[in-house]
Amino acid sequence: MAHALLKGDTGEWEMVIGLEIHAQVLTKSKLFSGAATDFGAAPNAQVSPIDAGMPGMLPVINKLCVEHAVRTGLGLNAAINLYSVFERKNYFYPDLPQGYQISQYAHPIVGNGHIEIDLADGSSKTVGIERLHLEQDAGKSLHDQHPSKSYVDLNRAGNPLMEIVSKPDMNSAEEAAAYVTKIRAIVRYLGTCDGNMDEGSMRCDVNVSVRKPGDALGTRCEIKNVNSIRFVQQAIEYEARRQIEVIEGGAKIVQETRLFDTKNGTTRTMRSKEDAHDYRYFPDPDLLPLKFEQEFVESIKKTLPELPDAKKHRFMKDYGLSAADASALISEKPRADYFERAAKGRDAKLTANWVLSELLGALNKAEKELEQSPVTAEQLGGLVALISDNTISGRIAKEVFAEMFVTDKSATEIVAAKGLKQVTDVGAIEKIVDDVLRANPDKIAEYKSGKDKLFGFFVGQVLKQSGGKANPAIVNDLLKAKLGKG
Ligand code: ADP
Ligand code: MG
Repeated sequence: MAHALLKGDTGEWEMVIGLEIHAQVLTKSKLFSGAATDFGAAPNAQVSPIDAGMPGMLPVINKLCVEHAVRTGLGLNAAINLYSVFERKNYFYPDLPQGYQISQYAHPIVGNGHIEIDLADGSSKTVGIERLHLEQDAGKSLHDQHPSKSYVDLNRAGNPLMEIVSKPDMNSAEEAAAYVTKIRAIVRYLGTCDGNMDEGSMRCDVNVSVRKPGDALGTRCEIKNVNSIRFVQQAIEYEARRQIEVIEGGAKIVQETRLFDTKNGTTRTMRSKEDAHDYRYFPDPDLLPLKFEQEFVESIKKTLPELPDAKKHRFMKDYGLSAADASALISEKPRADYFERAAKGRDAKLTANWVLSELLGALNKAEKELEQSPVTAEQLGGLVALISDNTISGRIAKEVFAEMFVTDKSATEIVAAKGLKQVTDVGAIEKIVDDVLRANPDKIAEYKSGKDKLFGFFVGQVLKQSGGKANPAIVNDLLKAKLGKG
């Protein structure tokens, strides 16, 4: 299909997006059995009779999963339901030997909530959470092991999942990406899910519809199991454009489940969408309704860490950071912690700049995680201090940083050893200024006849001749005094 619309451009149409995120609860054992949940084990090495759907097996709820679901609900500013019910969602699939998935339907453990998402322009937006429920994961069919047979690996069967369902509150691929990013940060801060999308411990069903602003919601299509943030964005861009073309061509959108093709960035029909009644949900007779007291919720609340949004607002208020810098710093907890250690007693804004641009840039180039940074937070703070007190200029600081990155030396040691200390001696700088002016009489004439831009040329020459060490403010003052106004 040819697409006339440009990327991100939906003309007079508005995209409406709602996401269902499956987040695997960070536990050692499964939701209803004692089998292990480790990623990457040999096929069928982690399967109990319960996960294999043996007749007569009896599921027993894993208490830690309940705690983690409540903890996550609190992190989503959501209502915690003291009464919830596990139900059977009936369907046939080779990787689901029970013939049903134990999930929650009418009574989920967590109800309405909301989170804040951070957009590239520094603005933020509130996205509603519809619910969070606990459910079992299914196994995995392996189609590439034998020329004519498919195999089934049940290691994943019964793994504990939290399904986090958003309200249809997002209107662009960027917003959806920011939402997934924020959910991932929240569960990682909470320690309830590792958020590793490439290992499948967080995956996304993306619901997309389009409408004219102000109209009722359009018919949605659901794109299943999208497993990276970039793919979420691509799938939305493609799907919205596809729907607009269908509608503008005079046809109607059929509600259906679609697949995202990672190779060409398109979506295609997988099956027509089931309605809830097709699954014949009913309460699982093997499991009592889940009931707990408010005290249980309160005891978990007491153990919550400072969450991303709270940290962001504190960084803006206490350190005077911009919204964009604050959200970039809080997006990962180790990064936020590193910043706070480095900024202790230093110029916080300057520290934020150094963490976000120089440090992250260098780590990225070296393909290292922050945890493996050769420059410690204390060392980076030391470098920032030297810039703040005018010992070195920002330009020299970059040179010093490059050296710090490949050695174990502190900024002070490098500055001393290489003689990089900034020259603040006015007499010494004035000598260089005079040399530069003497060597460029023609440029002075041009400057005086109105070519103001040449001022930068003189500054550059002086800095260059000083080996980058002359204090730029003094250079400016001296040049202004000697050249007069242009
Ligand atoms: P189902 O299991 O049938 O997919 P859920 O209630 O689990 O239903 O999820 C519905 C998801 O679809 C929610 O994230 C919701 O925000 C989203 N959604 C509902 N209606 C629309 C719509 N018209 N356009 C886009 N997203 C929608
Ligand atoms: Mg769904």
